This record gives sequence, C-alpha cells and structure tokens, in this order.
Amino acid sequence: MGGGEAFARVQRIVSQGRLHTVCQAASCPNRGECWEAGTATLMILGGVCTRDCRFCDVPTGTPAPVDADEPSRVAAAVAAMGLRHVVLTCVSRDDLADGGGAAWAQTVRAVRAACPATTIEVLPGDFAGRYDSCRPLLEVRPDIFGHNIEVVPRLYPTCRPQASYARSLEVLGWAAAAGLTTKSALMLGLGETRAEVESVLKDLRAAGVSIVAMGQYLQPSRSHLPVIRYVPPAEFDELAAAARQLGFAAVAAGPLVRSSYHAEQVKAQAQSGPPRNG
Ligand code: SF4
Repeated sequence: MGGGEAFARVQRIVSQGRLHTVCQAASCPNRGECWEAGTATLMILGGVCTRDCRFCDVPTGTPAPVDADEPSRVAAAVAAMGLRHVVLTCVSRDDLADGGGAAWAQTVRAVRAACPATTIEVLPGDFAGRYDSCRPLLEVRPDIFGHNIEVVPRLYPTCRPQASYARSLEVLGWAAAAGLTTKSALMLGLGETRAEVESVLKDLRAAGVSIVAMGQYLQPSRSHLPVIRYVPPAEFDELAAAARQLGFAAVAAGPLVRSSYHAEQVKAQAQSGPPRNG
C-alpha cells in the first residue's frame, strides 16, 4: 500500500507527532489514495476507545490519560501536511467527565492558530449525550461538525451497543441549532432495508444535517460483524439522488465512501449546493 513519496511523508509526520489516524486504526481501504494525496484523518484523545462497536477496528480498552500536548502536535502535523481542509476525529472517551470536550476545543484552537487558512471538520462521538460536554466544541465553531449515525436504528443493539440512535440525532441537532454546517455518515451492507435508509436520511434532515455520506461496510476482521450484502454502485447512485431530493446540500455515496473521504471536495459541493432549510 502507498509506496509513493507523499504517502511516506504523511506516515513520517504522523509517527513523528506520535499521533493516531483513523485511516490506520480503522483499516480504511482508501489509505493508499488519501495518504498519497497528502491527507489523513487524525484521531485525537489517544488510540484506545472505551466503546466496542462491532464494525470498528479501533482498539477497545482503558485509554491512557489525556495527553495535554496532543493539541499542539496535531496542529504541527496539520501545518506540516499543508492541508487546506483537515478532518479530525477521536476515540470515544466515556472515562472522562467531559467526554473529551475540552481537549476537542483546545485542538481546534491550536490548529486554527497554526494554520489560520485551513478549514476544520470535526467528527466527535456523542459525548454520552451531555450537552455541556459538547458545548466547548460547539463554541469554537468548527467549519463542519460531523457525527456519524453509522447504521439504521434497528441495528444499533447489534452494531453500536453503547450508542443510541436518538442520542446521535440529538448531538447533530445541537450543532445545527448552533448554526454549524452539519454532516453525518451511514454504512450500508449490514442488513438494513432501503426503506430504513431513507427513513434515516429523513431523520438527519429533520435534525438539520446538510451533508451526508454513505459507503459500503467492510468487515475489518473475522471477529467483526459480517457483511450481509455488497450494495451495487447503482443503488448508491439512487440513494444519493433520494438524499438530494430531501434537500441535502452535499451527498457522497459509493462503495468506498467514508465520512472523511474526499472531504474537501464534499465541503465545496455543500458550499455550492442548494439552500438549506434544516
Ligand atoms: S477515507 Fe478518511 S479514514 Fe479513509 S484513508 Fe481517507 S482520510 Fe483516512
């Protein structure tokens, strides 16, 4: 994977910064392409998650204490990569009283100070549904606030046992109510029906989400949930059309689409997309 110079450069920046990326941690199939294009999605708050989503390859366990120096290392890495648009995500930190909200805000501030021209897209967890934990991140006003709904509500108990569909919609609603451009993503191929997907799209619009991404679930290892179905590209096209019909300003849909895939282009699509009313 990725033998090119740009790939090696991203790898060097990530490892010198002692940082984590979801590209590596989640075994993303696009890593060769994205890193060769000089971009990566940095994962803050360490590399160990307190949750155990059955589709995700990020290690689960007891995380190390928050590293106070991580925000400045993230900022230095974004500066070194020279990104015009950066996507930052995190592991879930249910062990922290604020769910990592303060660290999120510090990281956005540090990136902004180091790279004032870079637009920032954040992809936090659900802060255990605590608005006060999320507030510091809302207050620093990232350019895009993403939170992935991941699967249809019927599949939450098997796919995301520690999460809640209603809670995730609520988090998205907080960001939309704060006037932020809001984004979500959905994995397909886990046993959902077309009607269920369309119902989630409607719920996302009702929560004020204006950008949506849909991609094929791939099983990271045999101990993860199996793929129930490979969704044909034409069906992704139909779902994208249905999402546009519902008023999403930007839609990315296709087998290899992930929430951070081609994020800069998707952001541009949103900026030139139809007016939002959600
Ligand atoms: S799609 Fe996102 S997670 Fe995957 S390699 Fe690209 S930037 Fe990383």
